[in-house]
Formats: sequence, C-alpha cells, structure tokens
Amino acid sequence: PAPIHVIGGGLAGSEAAWQIAGAGVPVILHEMRPVRGTDAHQTDGLAELVCSNSFRADDWTSNAVGLLHAEMRSLDSLIMACGDACQVPAGGALAVDRDGFSEAVTARLTAHPLVTIERGEVAGLPPAEWDSVIVATGPLTSPALAEAIQGLTGEGELSFFDAIAPIVTLESIDMGAAWRQSRYDKAGPGGDAQAYINCPMDRDQYEAFIDALLAGPKSEFREWENVPYFDGCLPIEVMAERGRETLRHGPMKPVGLTNAHRPDEKAWAVVQLRQDNALGTLWNMVGFQTKLKHGAQTDIFRMIPGLEKAVFARLGGLHRNTFLNSPRLLDRSLRMKVQPRLRFAGQVTGVEGYVESAAMGLLAGRLAAAERLGRPLEAPPATTALGSLVNHITGGHLDGGKGSFQPMNINYGLMPPVETPKRDAEGRRLGAKVRSRGRKLAMGERALADLAAWASDAPGQHRPHQAKAV
Ligand code: FAD
Repeated sequence: PAPIHVIGGGLAGSEAAWQIAGAGVPVILHEMRPVRGTDAHQTDGLAELVCSNSFRADDWTSNAVGLLHAEMRSLDSLIMACGDACQVPAGGALAVDRDGFSEAVTARLTAHPLVTIERGEVAGLPPAEWDSVIVATGPLTSPALAEAIQGLTGEGELSFFDAIAPIVTLESIDMGAAWRQSRYDKAGPGGDAQAYINCPMDRDQYEAFIDALLAGPKSEFREWENVPYFDGCLPIEVMAERGRETLRHGPMKPVGLTNAHRPDEKAWAVVQLRQDNALGTLWNMVGFQTKLKHGAQTDIFRMIPGLEKAVFARLGGLHRNTFLNSPRLLDRSLRMKVQPRLRFAGQVTGVEGYVESAAMGLLAGRLAAAERLGRPLEAPPATTALGSLVNHITGGHLDGGKGSFQPMNINYGLMPPVETPKRDAEGRRLGAKVRSRGRKLAMGERALADLAAWASDAPGQHRPHQAKAV
C-alpha cells in the first residue's frame, strides 16, 4: 500500500506511526525538530515529555487514566510499552525516565522497516498527493501550519489558548443546598427552564470567598505563554482583583434566580453550573476559568455552598494550546469533514495530557491504516475510555461545539454510568466510598470487555492482550 504521512513526532504522532506500521502499512513521520524547535521542547527526540515525567495513576480498577493505560496496552501501544520499560518509582503512578523513554520510542520507530522519519517542518497544508495524512502537531503547532489549518476551518475554529473552568461530577453536588433553575426561568432551545444548577452565597460567604480568591496562590505564566486576556474569559481571580463587587455583577450575579430551598431569602451571589456532557454526569462552573493552583482551587471552590464535597473531573486553567473546535470539524473517525484526507490526533483534537494525546494517536493510526487497507473501521464504543474520548471531541460534548468546547482529560464522567448494588448480600446499605469503588471496577471491566470485542472485529495484525490487574 501507499504510505500514510504523519506530521509531528510527539506522543500522538509516534504512537500513530507505530500503529500504522504494525498494520503492515508504510508510514512517513515528519518531525520538525531539530530543524525547527518549539518553545517547550528541548531535544530532537521523538515523544519528548515537555514537563512532568508522569503518566499518572496506573490502576485500571480505580482510575480512569489507569483504564486508558490498560486499553492502550491491550492494543500494542508503543508509548505504553516504552513507558513500562522506562518506569521509575512513583507509588501508584506510572512515571518514566524522561530521556530513556524518548530514546526508546525513537529507537523502536527508527528500527521499524515500514517507518521512515523525515526531519523538517510541514509549513502549510500537506501537498495534494499525500492522500492520507495524520496531523499530530500538538499544542505548539508551528505557526505556518496552524495558519494553513485556520484557512481551512475558518477563524474561531482553531484556538491558541484554552480557558478552562472546573468541572464537577453531578453526584458530588449537594442538591440539598443547590437547586436547578435557568435565570428568569428562561427555557433554552430544548425547552428546559431548569438548565442550570445554582449554588447560593450570603454576604459573609461571598466576602470570605473573595478574600480566598485574592489570597490564593496562582500559577505564573511563562514568558512565552503570556496570554492576552480576552473579554469574556478573564480568570476569576483577575476579576476579583478588579474590584470586590466585580464577580457579583459578572458570572456570580444573583438576579433572576430564586433559591428553591429558601424562597424568601435573596442570595447575595450565585455560582452557576452548566451541564457539560450529553450524559448529564458532568457540570462546569460557569465563568470560573482560573490560574489558581490546583490545590487552592479545590480548597476555595469547596467553600461554595453545595460544593463542599465536590469531586472535580477537571480543574481550571489557562494555557497556550492550539486545538480545533473538533465537535464541529471532525467526524468520529477523526477526519476533517471538509477535507477527509486529513485526520487529526493528539492534543490538537482537544484532549488534554500525554496519555490522552497518545491514545488519540493510537486510534487515528489504526483508523487510517484500516482505511488504507480497504477495511474501514469505526472508533470503539463510548463505554471504553478510548471511545469516550472520541465522543468528547467529536460531539458527545453537549453544545455541539458552539463556542465552549474545551480540552479534557479522561475521566469516568465521559463514560455512560453503570448501576451497582446499593446494598450488600446481607441487605446492609453500602457506603459511598464502597459504591464508588464498585462502580469504577464495573466500568473498567465493561470497558476492557467492549474494547476486546471491538479489537477482535478490527483488521490488522494486532490482537488484544488480557489486561493485567494491578
Ligand atoms: P507533542 O508531544 O507536542 O508533539 C507534537 C510534535 O509536532 C512536536 O514534536 C513538534 O515539534 C512537532 N511539530 C509541530 N509543528 C510541526 C510542523 N509544522 N511540522 C512538523 N512537525 C511539527 N501533559 C501532561 O500529561 N503532563 C504534563 O506535565 C504536561 N505539561 C505540559 C507543558 C507544556 C508547556 C505544554 C505545552 C503541554 C503540556 N502537557 C502536559 C499537555 C500535552 O499532553 C503535551 O503537550 C503532549 O506532548 C501532547 O502530545 P501531542 O503528540 O499532541 O503533541
């Protein structure tokens, strides 16, 4: 078969190239380093880790990223194999020797007879004769290519910064304090006048909250990261710095809302949460993008009545990050709708993190190889961690990409929930912790079984291995 071109030899591109070659299809991997660098990479190695050396928790029975590890291992992932081979002690996490890891990935790809590595920037749209391309150029995609992509997608469909508000799981919100209502009971397009979850604050709570925001430790921007703040996505702590009342007149304004639990009391301020995924399991804190450090975010946001026990599926942030408005632009095979020869993979698709980026490379590689071999393949179902990420980036996100699509790490809230028993065999009520453990285990087992079924239908030489329990 004719070769498939992969642009970008990072986490996603390296994995994609490996999967393509593994299916018996030749692949040309284009990496611009060292000919041209980025602001974060320091070497010319493939799959360089630009910051932390951790792939996060490794246990698939209790952690969503651990489940993603297990799924990737079962599909012959190069990134996971090299990560496992270069492991350093890190408790329950999988952390790797950074240089050893990058060298291992580079060596295995270089040695593969079907892989050609070309060093140089693809400084515009790929030539027309490349009929199957995977763009995996990451959060720091070179400006020339980013501009060319923007020319295809239209302005506003490619972001250069993310502005991330925290996301909370529904089951962790105390609905004894919070209530559902849209401002002024206005029904949205779906006819729902109870679209938001509202958390009320009285005056003292608001003042204490502002104090905490002002005092909380913030992450600094690196010099090259300096974000020009846009109106409409100022970090909340910056709004608080502009005046103690700013938030009460902005995202925390209490107007048009009546506390269902205490209809006679007017709230001084209200924090609103908006449904974030089609399943309704995840809710984002409206207008709460922030540069507060993660530890400070959990402490401060748990001061909000109703969120005292909040479980955060994602914390807030603001980073330099090139990513597509994928729910509008990509199909479920990760192809660009207006130009299907172009597939996208990695962070540029709107996933977040090393493992998630590599995971999308793995899928893009398999989908492209299957297409090349004339045996088209669908992405795995949303019950798998891999499939749930595809759903997030290609439309499982609630609003279909009308402006609020933001990158996301893997988490259980992206997968359909499972029902687990509320009582044990003797009829005793199970505690919340025990039930949560049972749910995660059941979701993990379902995911691995569904992935194995998907992979056994799929063409190519890869066969799933049994995941090992940890
Ligand atoms: P990358 O790994 O960045 O790979 C993209 C590759 O494409 C690069 O090698 C680049 O040189 C190349 N390239 C770009 N443009 C072109 C072009 N036109 N032609 C040819 N080659 C090109 N995630 C975590 O899980 N943990 C962290 O600690 C973490 N820290 C981060 C810190 C920073 C500063 C940034 C920017 C991101 C961080 N991330 C982190 C997020 C993300 O997971 C990583 O950036 C991850 O490397 C993304 O994988 P990728 O394959 O999509 O992109």
